[in-house]
Amino acid sequence: MSKLFAIFGDPVSHSRSPLMHNFLFKALHVDACYTRVHLRDGSKLRDTFFSLGLNGANITVPHKEAAYAACDEVRGFATTIGVVNTILLEDGKLIGYNTDADGFMEAIKPFGTLKTVLILGAGGTAKALANRFLQDGYDISILNRSEKRLGYFKELSLTCDTWESFGCKKYDLVVNTTSAGLKDESYPAPQVMIEEILSRTSFVADAIYGKMTPFLALAKQNKLTYKDGADMLLYQGVLANHLFCEKQFDLQTTADVMRKSFLL
Ligand code: NDP
Repeated sequence: MSKLFAIFGDPVSHSRSPLMHNFLFKALHVDACYTRVHLRDGSKLRDTFFSLGLNGANITVPHKEAAYAACDEVRGFATTIGVVNTILLEDGKLIGYNTDADGFMEAIKPFGTLKTVLILGAGGTAKALANRFLQDGYDISILNRSEKRLGYFKELSLTCDTWESFGCKKYDLVVNTTSAGLKDESYPAPQVMIEEILSRTSFVADAIYGKMTPFLALAKQNKLTYKDGADMLLYQGVLANHLFCEKQFDLQTTADVMRKSFLL
C-alpha cells in the first residue's frame, strides 16, 4: 500500500521538504507521497497524524518540542535534547527521532577536524548543536543577545555570554543559529563584534539557507571558508528519508538523489 508522509509546521508553506522527499520517491520508485500540514496548535499533532493516516512525518518550527511530547517512544539523540523533528509509525506507535544535529555534523565534515566552536544564539537549534558538539568533545562557547535562554547552556558548563560580557577568543568554527538575517539585514551581534569574531575564526556556518545573510557576506569578504544552511537541510532530510524508507537505500545514494531536488 502507498505510504503517506507530511511535514508539520507553522508556517509551513516555505518548506522544501515535500520537494526533497517526493523527488526521491519518484526517482527511486518508492510508492509514497509527502505533503505539508499547516498546524497551528502543537497539542493536536498526534491526533492529526493518525487522522491523516500518516506513516511518518517531519516537524518544523514551532512544534519540535510538542512532537517530543506526542511520541510513544523517543530514540537516540532526541532523548538528550527533548526535541523531535522526525516521527515514524511503528506497530501503531509514534517513534520520535532528531536528525537536525547529525545533519549539521554531516554538513560541516568538509571543514575537517575542529575543536573550538562559537555558537551565536541560544534557541532550539543552538541547543541541538551544543549537545551534539558536546558528544564529540568540542570546546563550546555560546553568545546570545539576551540572558534569559543562557541558563540551559550554563547547566551544561559551557562558556556563556551576552553581548555585554563577551570577550572574543580564537575559534575553529563560528555558527549562526539566530534568525538574524533571515527576514532582515541584521547581524547576529553588533557588527564590530562580528568583525572581531570573524577575524579570529577559520570556518563559518549559518543555519539560514536560501539567502546570503549579512553574516555570511562578511565571512566571504574576509575570505573565510563558509557555508549556509542548505547542506544541514539536505542531510537532516537524508537521515529522515533513510528512516521513512526503512534503510532501503544507502545514505550516499539518498543524498545524491535528494541534492538534485535543490536544482529544481
Ligand atoms: P529560536 O527561535 O529557537 O531561537 C532564535 C535565537 O535567535 C535566539 O537565541 C534569539 O535570541 C536569537 N535572535 C533572534 N533574532 C535576533 C537578532 N535580530 N539578533 C540577534 N539574535 C537574534 O530559533 P531556532 O533555533 O528554531 O532557529 C534559528 C534559525 O535556524 C532560523 O533562522 C531557522 O530558519 C534556522 N534553522 C535552519 C535549519 C536548517 O535545516 N538549515 C534547521 C533548523 C533551524 P534571544 O534569546 O535574545 O531572543
